[in-house]
Amino acid sequence: MTNKAIAKLLKETAALIELAGGNPFRSRAFASAARTIERLDEPVPALLARNELTAIKGIGTGLASQIEEILSYGSFEVRDDLLGALPPGVLDVLNVKGLGAKKVRVLWQQLGVQSLDDLEMAARTGRIAMLDGFGAKSQASIISHVALLRSFEGRRRGADAFTEAHRVVEALVKQGFDSVHVTGEVARGLNDVGTISLVAISQTRLVPELDDVPLTGSDTAAGTQWSGTYPDGLSVTILVCNAQHRGYAVFETTGPDAFVDSLKGRFKDLGATDEKTLFEESSVPWIVPELRDLPDAADRLESLSAWPLVTNEHLKGVLHNHSTYSDGAHTLREMSEAVRARGFGYFGICDHSQSLKVANGMSAETVARQQEEIRTLNEEFASDGGPAFRVFSGVESDILQDGSLDYPDDVLATFDMVVASVHVGFNMSEAEATDRIIKAVSHPATTILGHPTGRLILKRQGYPIDHDRVLKACAEYDVAVELNASPYRLDLDWRWIERARELGVLVSINPDAHSIEQIDVMKWGVVAARKGGLAPTDCLNAMDTEAFAAWLERRKTR
Ligand SMILES: [Zn+2]
Ligand SMILES: [Zn+2]
Repeated sequence: MTNKAIAKLLKETAALIELAGGNPFRSRAFASAARTIERLDEPVPALLARNELTAIKGIGTGLASQIEEILSYGSFEVRDDLLGALPPGVLDVLNVKGLGAKKVRVLWQQLGVQSLDDLEMAARTGRIAMLDGFGAKSQASIISHVALLRSFEGRRRGADAFTEAHRVVEALVKQGFDSVHVTGEVARGLNDVGTISLVAISQTRLVPELDDVPLTGSDTAAGTQWSGTYPDGLSVTILVCNAQHRGYAVFETTGPDAFVDSLKGRFKDLGATDEKTLFEESSVPWIVPELRDLPDAADRLESLSAWPLVTNEHLKGVLHNHSTYSDGAHTLREMSEAVRARGFGYFGICDHSQSLKVANGMSAETVARQQEEIRTLNEEFASDGGPAFRVFSGVESDILQDGSLDYPDDVLATFDMVVASVHVGFNMSEAEATDRIIKAVSHPATTILGHPTGRLILKRQGYPIDHDRVLKACAEYDVAVELNASPYRLDLDWRWIERARELGVLVSINPDAHSIEQIDVMKWGVVAARKGGLAPTDCLNAMDTEAFAAWLERRKTR
């Protein structure tokens, strides 16, 4: 369990105590312990093993043993008791943006709000605006945010759905199915998934069984379709058919409906045993499932089928990463070595800039110290007989409220690369937010625009920006745009990749890794990039080391 996950449980417990009307000092103790743990440089289990946890200010023996409980059970008694005592729906209300524990308690105590439904009803009937400390504006924002939370219900992030789909595949193969194919939203690489869709081949029409989802079956033309719902609302459908129907079954269940509807009339014989053969036999160009959500995909089969799409193997470098110089979990050396061990040729370290205090942003002195270490590392990597590898000195410079970059220009000029990202000031109008970003993009030091909208999948919408204006500015100032590969972000959204390509804007697939494990989220960025039709030649970090270094150099001297 990561320090972040432990901190999250402690923070939640602080909110639960407040919600239950408990001792405010106790609530504050948990909240401050959560902040302390979040900021630790070392993993909690390591400290615990050395008996050093209680040496940290604010963590007494009581809290230390609760943390031990968390590590072994994933929760602890205080939290479990509180969860048991509060109406479960109240916790959903806590997820509504702008409602902290104090406000949720007022809504619960004064209006009897115990669920999202109650909350929505209270807002729609105007009762919230009349409460002390709320008002019409917060009532309106509650209504729109409840709608947003509703749209997330029963969906999981693409990476989580992918993992679950493959777990089910394994279970079904174990159960005796000849082969099982992931189709539908997961095969199409959607950012978030509402239904896991599978085709399971069995000549004897086996009945599929899942341990946590009861399934009900119905007969279709192709076979028997089994469906069920996970406790969190995610759906699963399994089409059981024989191998002779596989080609069409995979095509039809992969979707999306618009694509299937425009093509199904063109297939002469539906008896193909795989999807590619089905297309081939009817002289219909086959395209990968990821591309089938593009506008008018079915009318562009010829060009889309010939399009070279970026793959994991194309990526030569890993840009935009964090280390212990700011809020990362591993040292610069550990991160560099891990990237090198994964076969990449270069690594861009982009720790947070000074103004981002919550992420331990680097002072100008720290920057100088880091750049010194980068020189040492590069000398070492060049002479140790290992594969060629280079560390580029970068920074994730905060875009300040007025669109300027963090650090004076002379400090910015010392970096090989600058990722400019918004982390504060999310409440701007679209025009203000767009102007701010364009100003940052126009700064000569900016190399890559980081996570352009700040959205978090199934959690928060990004701030509104005029994508077209932003991408045009990137083209004008020769700035690449990031496709943040974290499965929580995937920002730039894949729907804008074709526009970026048209404008000649390079896309950089960046993991924004805050730990060694997170380097591997690159693959989710690749899924989203492919979905948008990104070719290797459109991808900044598909360049080899020399080409990338030359691109940086060219930008500096333009
Ligand atoms: Zn960032
Ligand atoms: Zn970052």
